Amino acid sequence: TAPDPAAGEAVRAADRAHVFHSWSAQGLIDPLPVAGGEGSYFWDYDGNRYLDFSSQLVNTNIGHQHPKVVAAIQEQAGRMCTMAPGFAVDVRAEAARLVAERTPGNLDKIFWTNGGAEAVENAVRMAKLHTGRPKVMSTYRSYHGHTSAAIHLTGDPRRWANDTGAAGAVHFFGPHLYRSHFYAETEEQECERALAHLEETIVYEGPSTIAAVVLETIAGTAGVLVPPPGYLAGVREICDRHGIVFVLDEVMAGFGRSGAWFAADHFGVTPDLITFAKGVNSGYVPLGGVAISAEIAARFDQRPYPGGLTYSGHPLACGSAVATINTMAEEGIVENAAHIGESVIGPALREMAERHPSVGEVRGMGTFWALDLVRDKVTREPLVPYNASGPDNAPMAEFAAACKRGGVWPFVNMNRTHVVPPCNITEAEAKEGLAVLDEALSAADAHTSA
Ligand code: PLP
Repeated sequence: TAPDPAAGEAVRAADRAHVFHSWSAQGLIDPLPVAGGEGSYFWDYDGNRYLDFSSQLVNTNIGHQHPKVVAAIQEQAGRMCTMAPGFAVDVRAEAARLVAERTPGNLDKIFWTNGGAEAVENAVRMAKLHTGRPKVMSTYRSYHGHTSAAIHLTGDPRRWANDTGAAGAVHFFGPHLYRSHFYAETEEQECERALAHLEETIVYEGPSTIAAVVLETIAGTAGVLVPPPGYLAGVREICDRHGIVFVLDEVMAGFGRSGAWFAADHFGVTPDLITFAKGVNSGYVPLGGVAISAEIAARFDQRPYPGGLTYSGHPLACGSAVATINTMAEEGIVENAAHIGESVIGPALREMAERHPSVGEVRGMGTFWALDLVRDKVTREPLVPYNASGPDNAPMAEFAAACKRGGVWPFVNMNRTHVVPPCNITEAEAKEGLAVLDEALSAADAHTSA
């Protein structure tokens, strides 16, 4: 479409007049008016096109406007836009089957929500009802959503302004060798000591007070933290020993992002509950859910589950999930993510790390990667302080601006940039974006001690 700056200005003005934006000081933001998107790209009204290296909020796993999914939504809209959750509906049941079939183990029942936070909220409710216990544990390096239980579980600073202390959330440190809390020098040490730390925290909290441990299989926003071999299996064993429900939050890691349907597949673990959203239908219509083990589902065979949502299992959302999952299977999109990660993104990022003094560590898999940016490779001092804003955050802001000038929309969080493009990105597109990233890293290099 031809550039139309006047139309863009009208959208900007209407937005500024009436839209109250998430997580923002309303007077300090200037949201980019977006005119459209297709595949791995989106564009503004001024003729600028961006390669979406962020997949929006790491959710457009099949890219923008996938024609098969758009057609399925149109078809579903013509057939049945909405129907209350109490009815049995074809696409609601089919989407549940397609998700359940892909979960590790026998998580055969799906409770549908409108997104990730509600999924976490309901997983926590199920765990508390199942165990009769009041507290839930999660890691500091985490994000689980912004509803009450979910934001209390969240470790990152978005919790602080919302923390009433009322949700029974207890935080601990997960494994993160590059910034080890346990003075570990190897993955084995990190794994062993992180498990001992979790065990000890549970013992001191009182095992009989802990309903659940909630972990992102691979912590996403907190830095693409791939757990060391054995860690998740170790958590499973600790949970079993203390009668604690093990919840894996796959809202970001699931549906192809890590190069597998669920990231849990890489680690051979079966949790009791899995929360999912985002990639389940690439966010084309709001959708999330909880996949539930037979044992926990059975708890609600004879007594009612005390939770529900008007739009639980919304037909338009479920129709888009059926189309998305089938399209991902037909087009080998999960396999593409694994392949691009292993043969294009991973090697390119590791090579950049050798040349750029600002790149401290590269980590990830599939289409799920992070660069940990530092001032100094030896001290590993982060390029910007934890939770920096304003002038303190200038090095990251300059890096992000350089990416955008080069036509790449980056994911930036604290001292990290994440390479999280659509799972069906082509090799050529990935290389194009990586070249821009390479150049933009000089903006970060300028702030290092090298
Ligand atoms: N859990 C994880 C791991 C997430 O990354 C997110 C969102 O980024 C959420 C939960 C919350 O999902 P939503 O924003 O759909 O409520």
